[in-house]
Amino acid sequence: ASTFDVTAVRRDFPTLGDSLAYFDSVASSLTPRPVIDAMTEYYTSYRANVHRGSYDLSMRASQRFDDALTTIARFLNASTEEIVLTSNTTTAINLVAATLDFEPGDEIVLSNLEHTSNMAPWMRIANKQGVNVRWYNADRDGGFDLDTFRGLLSDRTKLVTLAHVTNILGNRLPVEEIGAICRERDILFLIDAAQSAPHLPLDVSKLNCDFLAFSGHKMLGPTGIGVLYIRRQYAVSLIPGVLGGGTIDTTACAAPTLDGCVLSDCSFTSLPDKWQAGTPPIAEALGLAAAIDYLTDLGLDNLAAHEEQLMHQLCDGLSAIDGVELYGPPNPADRVAVVSFNIAGRDFTEVGQLLNDRYGVAVRAGQHCALNYFFNELHEEDSRAGNVRASLYLYNTADEVDRLIAAVADIAAQGA
Ligand code: PMP
Repeated sequence: ASTFDVTAVRRDFPTLGDSLAYFDSVASSLTPRPVIDAMTEYYTSYRANVHRGSYDLSMRASQRFDDALTTIARFLNASTEEIVLTSNTTTAINLVAATLDFEPGDEIVLSNLEHTSNMAPWMRIANKQGVNVRWYNADRDGGFDLDTFRGLLSDRTKLVTLAHVTNILGNRLPVEEIGAICRERDILFLIDAAQSAPHLPLDVSKLNCDFLAFSGHKMLGPTGIGVLYIRRQYAVSLIPGVLGGGTIDTTACAAPTLDGCVLSDCSFTSLPDKWQAGTPPIAEALGLAAAIDYLTDLGLDNLAAHEEQLMHQLCDGLSAIDGVELYGPPNPADRVAVVSFNIAGRDFTEVGQLLNDRYGVAVRAGQHCALNYFFNELHEEDSRAGNVRASLYLYNTADEVDRLIAAVADIAAQGA
């Protein structure tokens, strides 16, 4: 039996109550008290900028901030020199897109299951710089075939950028193997870890990635903070696509006048400041570090065991309902947190609304920020462009899952 005590966990989350069954943690998770407390303490006790002042308040803030950065780096088994704080996964990916140089004819490999945030920045580069996108087209189960993937690579492939776990199906990609293939061929590899960071241990020394991005708000942390890991050799060699205060060593600028000032004459500050343009999200970094401590204290293994039990219960319950169709990996054990489904003859938006209004169950209905590509193919048979998505996290209970299953059964029984 698991040592995981969901009743005790739930007491840490002020938003939770009996009336709300929250099944949308994949969009954003709820926040436990220690995270809120860490941020409140900053605003009430040592509110100042970091690494800029020599007065006590700023020194204290800097110390706490540096500790938070250490916690974040350790979570990835990275060094603090490889960590950049951004606003979210989206800005982390955009920072990479603004940093890399592409030549016309270069290729980027993406999949049709990517979130818009890992598609749109690359589509812009494709459109503006004559770069070609090669698509990995996932099937409705979300399986990933390494040979098909290999077939998409060429001498012109510069970057492979893929979600570790997709927010559409909850399927998990074999990123270690993908990364090994990329490294063998000198191809850059970016992992969108927005959906894996909340659930899976991440060790960049094993993932074979050059960049990895995730958001605080999906893993019990605050909104307004994301993390970009940049492998050391690239953190050193690349010029950041976003520059500003903190990134340039102003004492070492050679130019005698402003007119003569060119970037190549400037020295960058040492890592990780070189990449941290402007004031970082300070309170949010403290909150994210508290979230990481909270998750690691509970134990990611314990969390996974709890979620897997609920996942089996949810998939079994939903599959047994007449007219309910599930998308994603057939084996519940292969899913991370997500169950997407439709009810035959029912509009997914209406189902999502009914679940909320009549049954007090919060789910997401729609395309989940994926562009049309996947949904058009997935729902070809009935030309549907979306589905209902329920997602699980540590605070969900077996009772809540039963409530969701009963509600879906009730709606399905009512027919169109
Ligand atoms: N990638 C994936 C796989 C996601 O699920 C999300 C959020 N739904 C994002 C990127 C974007 O995250 P954010 O909105 O925090 O930037």
